[in-house]
Amino acid sequence: MSTDVRNVIIIGSGPTGYTAAVYTARANLSPLVFEGSVTAGGALMNTTEVENFPGFPEGIDGPALMDNMRRQAERFGAELVADDVVSVDLTGDVKIVRTATGEHHARSVILAMGSGYRKLGVDGEDRLSGRGVSWCATCDGFFFRKQEIVVVGGGDSAVEEATFLTRFADKVTLVHRRDELRASKIMQERAFKNDKIEFAWNSAVKEIRGELSLEGVLLEDTVTGEERYLPATGLFIAVGHDPRSELLQGQVDLDPEGYVLVQPGSTQTNLPGVFAAGDLVDHTYRQAVTAAGTGCAAALDAERYIADLE
Ligand code: FAD
Repeated sequence: MSTDVRNVIIIGSGPTGYTAAVYTARANLSPLVFEGSVTAGGALMNTTEVENFPGFPEGIDGPALMDNMRRQAERFGAELVADDVVSVDLTGDVKIVRTATGEHHARSVILAMGSGYRKLGVDGEDRLSGRGVSWCATCDGFFFRKQEIVVVGGGDSAVEEATFLTRFADKVTLVHRRDELRASKIMQERAFKNDKIEFAWNSAVKEIRGELSLEGVLLEDTVTGEERYLPATGLFIAVGHDPRSELLQGQVDLDPEGYVLVQPGSTQTNLPGVFAAGDLVDHTYRQAVTAAGTGCAAALDAERYIADLE
């Protein structure tokens, strides 16, 4: 157990956590960063080419981008630990952060645990992820010019992704388990009017097929059980996200979907000295650059909080 009280502990190691680490390290706050044991580096470790992060005109591999951020944080003295935080007590002046092997104390904590895209849980999904299977149309739509794409889901994000993808694709099939969409009326009408969008109603993806890259999906009719194969080179799964906020239950205020609530225009949570940023907070933008931007804001908020304590 460490008896030191650090200035800042950062939980999470995606663009949010590493950016917060760069800023707090450069402010001489000696941050301790818990990166997670399996998924250090965050969501971009699961992707290949990132073409929309500014500063890389030729694009950059997700893992290479995250390694750059990690090394940048280390260069300024951030202490990075590839371990999971298993519990926290953030309510006192001294915050307590526990891993399986020890307890750590800090005056401030930056929460940067991100969120997970919900999966379908079917065969082929993990194997073909990044090889035609994606969870982010803004990130990957551009790679699917003049192709036939399937989008799964029936809410606002699925309909928005399907409509957005018609800018690139020849045809988009929206696969939905029911016979009507949950999306807002205006988004539905826009999709119904779009010639490039077809609808596979009462359909669920049973299997995702392809050798080296996606070739198609096996659909099952949710009413009759009948199966049919739909060829496609792109599959976008838009069935929701889950913020990784389980640790925070009962301490930090969360919205009904589990995202951390922060004060408008700030990264301040309901607890003094506790800041949150990135996809753990963000319902809307969910991009590496916005995550990095709010990670910077959290670091500046923490820096000011600590200066005011002194
Ligand atoms: P994350 O990147 O999710 O990082 C959170 C980190 O916190 C993870 O490393 C996790 O292990 C760690 N963590 C969680 N819980 C704990 C714990 N208890 N203890 C310790 N650590 C913990 N965006 C773009 O701008 N361009 C793209 O091209 C792009 N492509 C994408 C492709 C894919 C396949 C995916 C999934 C996303 C893509 N995105 C892209 C979105 C982008 O990756 C996210 O918006 C961004 O990574 C969010 O950053 P974050 O730091 O908030 O969270």
